[in-house]
Amino acid sequence: MALDPALLDLVAATPGFMPDDEGLALHAAAVAAAPLGPVVEVGTYCGRTTLLLADAARRAGQVVVTVDHHRGSEEHQPGWEYHDPALVDPADGRLDTLPHARRALAAAGLEDDVVVVVGRSDLVGRLWGGRAGLVFLDGSHVEDQAQRDYAAWAPAVAPGGLLAIHDVFPDPRDGGQAPHHVWRRALAEGFTPAGAQGSLRLVRRPA
Ligand code: SAH
Ligand code: MG
Repeated sequence: MALDPALLDLVAATPGFMPDDEGLALHAAAVAAAPLGPVVEVGTYCGRTTLLLADAARRAGQVVVTVDHHRGSEEHQPGWEYHDPALVDPADGRLDTLPHARRALAAAGLEDDVVVVVGRSDLVGRLWGGRAGLVFLDGSHVEDQAQRDYAAWAPAVAPGGLLAIHDVFPDPRDGGQAPHHVWRRALAEGFTPAGAQGSLRLVRRPA
């Protein structure tokens, strides 16, 4: 899948947690699934993965709906492992990734291809009545919230569509287990394996 080098440069310059190989696999999955419906992302952060999904959706004449409260996950808070002081709003000392995400989308010329939703992911999921070609789960990795995200968003995946889950680590020494549990739950609930790259897992809802 040929990707515009200028887009890849913007992806690389955008803060985030998606390695190149997994990002390309996510892009390819979204290209394949977007003809079935819009692409939903849970966990915008600064828009790194949103850029890839938006490029893929646009090829199918679709859009991305990306959801985040933009206050960061547990591990992004001050004093935690993945805290980035550059993302703190000086007005109130809290994390605010929204302006960074908007800047990334504008720089890539993808503002019209993305609906940015600011809010709690499971709440938005329960309000969302539509179908999605692909749902990408990359929000909270705390067990309860990750399970709530799955419960809220998995039903939206269209028949034949894909659910993508990030940070799936079968070995607890490699990372937290919530995304792994969500992946196993998806398989137990009828999704079928549809690919893997690094810690990215793809499963498909049977058509
Ligand atoms: N997809 C991004 C990384 C997302 S990091 C990338 O690969 O670059 C996870 C994001 O989930 C954070 O921005 C955090 O604010 C968001 N998040 C965590 N819990 C959330 C919740 N309950 N509702 C909405 N967003 C949440
Ligand atoms: Mg991730």
